Amino acid sequence: MNVVVCVKQIPDPADPGALDPNTKTLKRDGKLILDESDSYGVEMALQLVDAAGGGEVTLVSMAPNGETAGLRTALAMGAAKAVLVSDDALQGSDALGTSKVLAKAIERAGQADLILTATESSDGYTGTVPEQIAELLSLPSVTFAKSITVDGSSVKVQRQTESGYDDVECPLPAVVSVTAGVVEPRYPSFKGIMAAKSKPVDQVGLGDLGVDAGSVGWAGAGQEIVEIATAEARAASTVVEDDGEAFQKIVDMLAELKIV
Ligand SMILES: Cc1cc2nc3c(=O)[nH]c(=O)nc-3n(C[C@H](O)[C@H](O)[C@H](O)COP(=O)(O)OP(=O)(O)OC[C@H]3O[C@@H](n4cnc5c(N)ncnc54)[C@H](O)[C@@H]3O)c2cc1C
Repeated sequence: MNVVVCVKQIPDPADPGALDPNTKTLKRDGKLILDESDSYGVEMALQLVDAAGGGEVTLVSMAPNGETAGLRTALAMGAAKAVLVSDDALQGSDALGTSKVLAKAIERAGQADLILTATESSDGYTGTVPEQIAELLSLPSVTFAKSITVDGSSVKVQRQTESGYDDVECPLPAVVSVTAGVVEPRYPSFKGIMAAKSKPVDQVGLGDLGVDAGSVGWAGAGQEIVEIATAEARAASTVVEDDGEAFQKIVDMLAELKIV
């Protein structure tokens, strides 16, 4: 079974950089890392291929400056190869522009039985890319998967809901977005890290994918970011001095907040 996993490479959340006041987008000129949200999709794909007894996991990513650091992490986990789309004309791409590019990259990756994504990325989090990819590829889409089982030519998904989960089944190939916690992502081993250095990364531009530059980037963006603002600082916390009765004060405080 061949599984394609979309993996976004994002600025390190521990050092996220800054917003560009002119374009109102996140500066992405530093090193990018594998979005933790996507490590669940990679792990799920590796487990499904193992369970099927054959096949491989291919990664697909769109990122500036030929960035491969995040891809190498996912290759070290066990993915076989990657397609990276990097092109100056992609700057300013909105979610639909990104989806158009990823859909073409998925086709380039070869015949996939299943396409996995995260539910939403950690930096953009529109949560719209997976469904747009499915529409562009004319494939069924299942969202919020907390468990995935492949059964012959169909996929069975437990789809997370507010009150529990729905059992959903659909034919393959399909696009499935997974929730965080669907599986426990493995840590890349030293052997995996060394092997990842020589795994193939097919770096392509818009011309290679047959994507019209006018339909993506700033030129093709249908979304506009009208305003950006700094997030409010957290309100000061309450310090409870322990005079021997601190537990009671904390319980009272939690009761007042209707937490207990
Ligand atoms: C007007 C405008 C201009 C923008 N300009 C830029 C820009 O110049 N540079 C820039 O980087 N961003 C830019 N953005 C942000 C960019 O459009 C989004 O980050 C991108 O479309 C993906 O959306 P998301 O992160 O909300 O995806 P979501 O829908 O939240 O992502 C869901 C899942 O889809 C997959 N996915 C999403 N994006 C990628 C990716 N790139 N590669 C592989 N898998 C992916 C991942 O599995 C992810 O978890 C711009 C946005 C707007 C509105």
